[in-house]
Amino acid sequence: MSFIGKLFGKKEKTPVSQCKICKTLLEYNEGYALTTSEVVSSKEYWDHKMVEPETLGYTTAHFKQKDANATKMRGIIFEKTAEKDQTWLVCDTCIKQFEVDTNEAKKHALQWWESKGNYNPPKSGDAKAVLEKDTYEEIKEYATMLAGANKIR
Ligand SMILES: [Zn+2]
Repeated sequence: MSFIGKLFGKKEKTPVSQCKICKTLLEYNEGYALTTSEVVSSKEYWDHKMVEPETLGYTTAHFKQKDANATKMRGIIFEKTAEKDQTWLVCDTCIKQFEVDTNEAKKHALQWWESKGNYNPPKSGDAKAVLEKDTYEEIKEYATMLAGANKIR
């Protein structure tokens, strides 16, 4: 094999990933791993999520026009997010939205990288199956009815 071939051909690529929230590039061993339940339990996460370009229209219509369909869509966005069966690798900036043990989340991220993305932290998966019913309903109510309000008014 030529010199160039050795450099670019067979060399194993260093794995990279993206922050599941803001899409920032993450290199090997970077970031924090969260479960779906940890993500959806954060009110701050919803305050961000509900004013993103894809959701802002619903949020504006929900608060300003009291549009019932927009409110319903916010509930659906919550449900679709809460049922995600994935590990949430998040960046140094996004982790600040969550009140979690960052040392634990870091450890889970290292295991996630080590396993090439196959590792799931304990209590991963559908938040409805993991969270107490009251907790789930309370955060769903927040995400649907209140999240993002301070960015609209
Ligand atoms: Zn991020």
